[in-house]
Amino acid sequence: DNNRFQAIISHCKEYGFVFQSSEIYDGLSAVYDYGQWGSELKKNIKDYWWKSMTQLHENIVGIDAAIFMHPTTWKASGHVDNFSDPMIDNKDSKKRYRVDHLLEAFADELEKAGKKEEGDAILATMDQLLAADDFDGLKKLIEDKKIKCTVSGTSNWTDVRQFNLMFSTQLGSVTEEASEIYLRPETAQGIFVNFLNVQKTGRMKIPFGIAQIGKAFRNEIVARQFIFRMREFEQMEMQFFVRPGTQKEWYEKWKATRMEWHKSLGIPADKYRFHDHVKLAFYADAACDIEFEFPIGFKEVEGIHSRTDYDLSRHQEFSKKKMQYFDPEINQNYIPYVIETSIGLDRCFLMVISNAYAEEDLSTAEKQDSRVVLRFAPKLAPIKLAVLPLTKKDGLPEIAREIMDECKTSFRCFYEEKDAIGRRYRRQDAIGTPFCVTVDHQTKEDQTVTIRYRDTMQQERIPINKIKELIEKQIL
Ligand code: ATP
Repeated sequence: DNNRFQAIISHCKEYGFVFQSSEIYDGLSAVYDYGQWGSELKKNIKDYWWKSMTQLHENIVGIDAAIFMHPTTWKASGHVDNFSDPMIDNKDSKKRYRVDHLLEAFADELEKAGKKEEGDAILATMDQLLAADDFDGLKKLIEDKKIKCTVSGTSNWTDVRQFNLMFSTQLGSVTEEASEIYLRPETAQGIFVNFLNVQKTGRMKIPFGIAQIGKAFRNEIVARQFIFRMREFEQMEMQFFVRPGTQKEWYEKWKATRMEWHKSLGIPADKYRFHDHVKLAFYADAACDIEFEFPIGFKEVEGIHSRTDYDLSRHQEFSKKKMQYFDPEINQNYIPYVIETSIGLDRCFLMVISNAYAEEDLSTAEKQDSRVVLRFAPKLAPIKLAVLPLTKKDGLPEIAREIMDECKTSFRCFYEEKDAIGRRYRRQDAIGTPFCVTVDHQTKEDQTVTIRYRDTMQQERIPINKIKELIEKQIL
C-alpha cells in the first residue's frame, strides 16, 4: 500500500540510504543519490550478483564497457528508431513538451490551487492513455483540460508524436567538428560490440556469457515512483551466447536460475511471479519478467529475453564486420543466438529494502514500545557488526576497539559508545545490522561479550575470540 511505500521512502532518507539528487536545489526529478548506508547495500547487491554470475559460472566472464559508444551502435540496435515516448508541440510558443511533463505540471498547479484530486484523476487517465498508446486521447486530454491557461498561454497544439528516450550530447567542443552521441540507454550493446573481442581473447566456447554492471540513462516518461523508475540508473546484465536452435532450452534454464538467485536473497517465493510477454519486442522470440510484489503492487525487477541473433546480425550489417563464431563441435560458422538476463540494480535495491522493512510493536503490559527494523539477509546488510562498549569508562572502550581491529579487516563494522544501549540497538535495527556485541564489566573478567541478534532480539554470551568466526559464517 501507498503508506508503506511512503514510510520506506522516508526511512531511506532519514537513515542515510537514499537522498534526492541535488536536494539543496530542490532536487532533480527521478534522479537520486545513495547515502552512507545505501551505497554499502547497493555495493553488496552488486557484488553478490557479480559473484553469482562470474565466479560461480566458469563460462561467464565480465566486462566494463564505456557509457559513450559510437553513434552507429544505436542505429544498429534499433534505439534511434524505436526507443521513444509521446510528446506534443505548441504551435504558438514553438515549445515542445513531453506529454507527461505537461500534464504533471498542470496537476501540480491544480494541487497548489487546492484541487489535488482533480490533478490525480488527470494523471491516472494519462497513465491509461500512455499504456494504450492512445495519442489522440492524449491530445484530447490536453485540449479538454485547457492547459493553455496555465502552462503555455495558448491552446494551439500539434498532434502527439513519439519522443526518443535517449539523452544525447556532443562529442568534441563546439568549435571543433562536433558529433552527436548518446548516453547509453542499456548496457547490453557494450557487450554485443565486444562479443568477438571477448570470445577470441578469452578463448570462449559457446555456450558462454558476458556480464556487465553499469549506468544507463533514459529520459523516462513516468517519473513519480522513487527509485523504481529513474533517469539515471544502473543495470546488471548478462548476455548468454548459444547455438541457434538451443535458445528455448537456455531461456528456460536462465528463467529458473534467475528465480533461484532471487530466492537466495532471503526473499520468500510468494513475493515473486513470472510475467510472460505475449506481445514480444520485434527482436525477441520469447520474453518474460520476474515481478516482485512491491508496496505499489507486483512490478518488474528483471527481464529475461531470448533475443535471437538480432543484435549481432545488426552489428554485422552496420559495421560490416563478421560477427560469426566457428563451432568446432558441429564444424559450422554461425551468428550465435542470445539469452539476456537484465536486472535494474536500483530496482533490486528497492526490492530488498521493501522486503526487509518492518514496523514491529513490542509493547508489553508495562509499557508501549515499537521498532523499525530492516531484516536484510546478513550478506547484504550495510554493516555486519556493531561493537558497543556499555560505558565510556573502566577500560571498556579499549576492549571494544580491540574487537573492532580484529574484525574490521574482514567485514564492515561500526563502533559506537554514545547513548543508552537500548537506543543504540534500535539505531542498528533501523539500518539492518544483524549483530551487535556489547562489552561490559563481565568482559574484563571472563573475556566474553553479549551478542544480540537483530531479528529475534535474543542475547547470549560468547567468548571474544569466537565473534569473528560466528559472523563470517553468517554472511556468506
Ligand atoms: P519498464 O517496462 O519498467 O520501463 P523495461 O522493460 O523498459 O522496463 P528493460 O529495458 O528490460 O526494462 O530493462 C531491464 C531492467 O532494467 C528492468 O527490469 C528494470 O529493473 C531496469 N530498469 C529499466 N528502466 C529503468 C529505470 N528507468 N529506472 C530504474 N530501473 C530501470
